[in-house]
Amino acid sequence: MINFKEELAALEARGLRRKMRFVSSACDRYITIEGKKVLNFCSNNYLGLANDKRLKAAAISTINKFGVGTGASRLVSGSNILHKRLEEKLADFKRQEACLVYPSGYSANLGIISALADRNSIVFCDRLNHASIIDGIILSRAQLARYPHKDINALEELLKKNSGYKNKLIISDSVFSMDGDIAPLPELLRLAEKYDCLLMIDEAHATGVLGKSGRGTLEHFGLKANKRIIQMGTLSKALGGLGGFVCASRELIDYLVNRSRSFIFSTALPAALCASALEAIRIIERDGNQRARLLSNADFLRAGLNSLGFNTLESQTPIIPILAKEPKLTMELSRRLFEEGVFAQGIRPPTVPEGLCRLRVTVMATHTKSDLEFVIDKFRKIRKKSEVRS
Ligand SMILES: *Cc1c(COP(=O)(O)O)cnc(C)c1O
Repeated sequence: MINFKEELAALEARGLRRKMRFVSSACDRYITIEGKKVLNFCSNNYLGLANDKRLKAAAISTINKFGVGTGASRLVSGSNILHKRLEEKLADFKRQEACLVYPSGYSANLGIISALADRNSIVFCDRLNHASIIDGIILSRAQLARYPHKDINALEELLKKNSGYKNKLIISDSVFSMDGDIAPLPELLRLAEKYDCLLMIDEAHATGVLGKSGRGTLEHFGLKANKRIIQMGTLSKALGGLGGFVCASRELIDYLVNRSRSFIFSTALPAALCASALEAIRIIERDGNQRARLLSNADFLRAGLNSLGFNTLESQTPIIPILAKEPKLTMELSRRLFEEGVFAQGIRPPTVPEGLCRLRVTVMATHTKSDLEFVIDKFRKIRKKSEVRS
């Protein structure tokens, strides 16, 4: 039997023990954690929609009409008219033929990948892809071929070496969740075509964020969706709610309805979350100002942190890593910022590789200029302190 106490003590000694902190407010610009009100710089609620009154009204009226739970999986008794409406809306938003929603982004990745690959398949996977992608590949029993982060030449070598596989899948985060950089989508697509692979992109942090009208990374690069491309995403980040989705060709979606186990064997997403996601997409389509504000806020904060000498890696999006390398230093910086009124979470292995611990700061469209200046000032202060210490 595992000695839990010893294992936890070992994590503690290495600065890797995780503890939950409890929030007694909505997820917004400010949040209250353990009685202290702090500026929130660590949610993926990029557009501030998680506590938006229009989304709340949509969810509340849907609960009044359809109740809270859905009662069963979609194929048994739970497929609601709002699932259909949301899937049509998402397919249109992502410019693909069809869409399927899942209870979460995590379960979407598990269910999509394990349905599209089997023990005779191979999956090419960026080293920094999200954990749910890795778990989906493991569940599929496919051969896993990881390539160095965004390294197109290394990927092509692997594709050449493994040309014997009939079923090949390339998967990449389109915005990397801990680094905030963007995958080289045009090159990935070129290789997918050249080597006859499906290309799946995880649009968790791109949907509602990238592209002229927030449609994501294809729009960002001026690319068109086609049968080879699978866009997975989540309703839980810029869209402010909960739930996962996948947009692809009609046949692929119909195949998933028949083969995707996390879709088939899990209770359907509540209708209220479909309604709030529908409202979120309508808002994003109608009003590009919030997204423009999000991106300019991110640029402002990144430039401020860089001018203080902080290393923000290759970040190009509202996800801004601040490299601190070692776990204990990382958590101490996070603690000090919290004392100063700023919530910025420390990120440690296994979420990031050993030696690459960081604070992960995420910007919201609703942060004001003075919020951003406040945070930059606090970073200046903790930097001075850590220099004194070293
Ligand atoms: C958050 C995230 C997921 C999982 O989505 P949830 O809806 O939170 O389960 C999947 N992929 C990436 C890249 C993510 O950042």
